[in-house]
This record gives sequence, C-alpha cells and structure tokens, in this order.
Amino acid sequence: MQKFIYTAVFLLLVSAGSIIFIKLDKEAKRKTCYENIQRLEEAKRKFGAEYGAGLGSHITLKVLETYLGEKGKEISCPSGGEYSINPVGQPVTCSVHSFEKEVR
Ligand SMILES: [Zn+2]
Repeated sequence: MQKFIYTAVFLLLVSAGSIIFIKLDKEAKRKTCYENIQRLEEAKRKFGAEYGAGLGSHITLKVLETYLGEKGKEISCPSGGEYSINPVGQPVTCSVHSFEKEVR
C-alpha cells in the first residue's frame, strides 16, 4: 500500500512538473512571437513612412525583409504560426497566437 502511495505521489509530482514546463514553454513561445510581431510592426512603420504608404496599403513580408536586417528572413512564429502583415492600419497577426489583449 505504501509503495502505491509513493508511486501515486511521484506521478502527481511528475505530471504537475510537466504541466508547469509546458505552460512555461508555451509562454516563452508566445513571448518570442510577440517580439517578432513587434519587429514586423516596426518594419511596417518604417516602410510606411519611407514610401508614404497610406491606410489600407498592402505590404508583404518580402518587402519588409530589408527593414528587418540580417535576421529578417528567419523571422517566424516558434509555434509554427503564419504571420499576416495586413494592410497599413491593421496590426500584424499570427495564425496561432492572438495578442488583442496586449497594448500595442
Ligand atoms: Zn505566433
């Protein structure tokens, strides 16, 4: 019986540990994605200012690559989401993460 209790407690600790780990991992990926979106937004702003792209102008990720520097081509969601640059005036979005609650 005692052995069973030890096993049960052990399994409980392991599962609690993995839940915490998964949560932290998910949170870290979300944070990276948010930072990527911030970089894309910044690039979008720079492009808009330079080319006078008004509200509703369509901008592609390809166009923004020059504003993202060396690592521009590697910018991707760690959870495998796809970024939508969206027209000027609309925020950059990720197909996996939603950042509507965050202040932009
Ligand atoms: Zn994402």
